[in-house]
Amino acid sequence: MQLVCLDLEGVLVPEIWIEFSQRTGIPELRRTTRDEPDYDKLMKYRLGILAQHKLGLPDIQEVIAAMGPLAGAREFLDDLRQRFQVIILSDTFYEFAMPLMRQLGMPALFCHKLEADASGTLVNYHLRMPNQKREAVKRFKELNFKTIAVGDSYNDTAMLGEAHAGILFHPPENVVREFPQFPVTMSYAELDVEIRKASAKI
Ligand SMILES: [Mg+2]
Repeated sequence: MQLVCLDLEGVLVPEIWIEFSQRTGIPELRRTTRDEPDYDKLMKYRLGILAQHKLGLPDIQEVIAAMGPLAGAREFLDDLRQRFQVIILSDTFYEFAMPLMRQLGMPALFCHKLEADASGTLVNYHLRMPNQKREAVKRFKELNFKTIAVGDSYNDTAMLGEAHAGILFHPPENVVREFPQFPVTMSYAELDVEIRKASAKI
């Protein structure tokens, strides 16, 4: 039995914080772990900025729904789900992803959770566990699944390495250089070819 694990942001949907920052005109939300390596500090900072701008969960979800998935993502995913069990492994939060998951036909998603108060203001975040992408692939292997993993950036490389086959999709140049062991794909058509190849091999 073969399983395909897909990263979400940069593979099926835009980078949520970056796109959100553009759509709301709040440049401070472009800050990433590259600017602030302490993830907890970064998240508290982001939640503070959202509260300052009086953006509650319903407002945020409305902006995210309007982003939509990447062009061709729904068709690619629908086709893939005809042939494989597909699980999306992401470091985003259910509350952010849901408006986009509805547009993707509600595939299975493993990610993290946000906490809102009664007024809808986001007050905290909860990571389900550390390194959940890689840990999930490990557990799927224990369940006797052969796993193909697809991702676009650094936070996917442990999952790609853990899987029976790992594939990069639209990665930045430095990731391509540092991880030459993974095939690189730049379109859904190319990704489909690599998944078929991997599936025949594992
Ligand atoms: Mg990504």
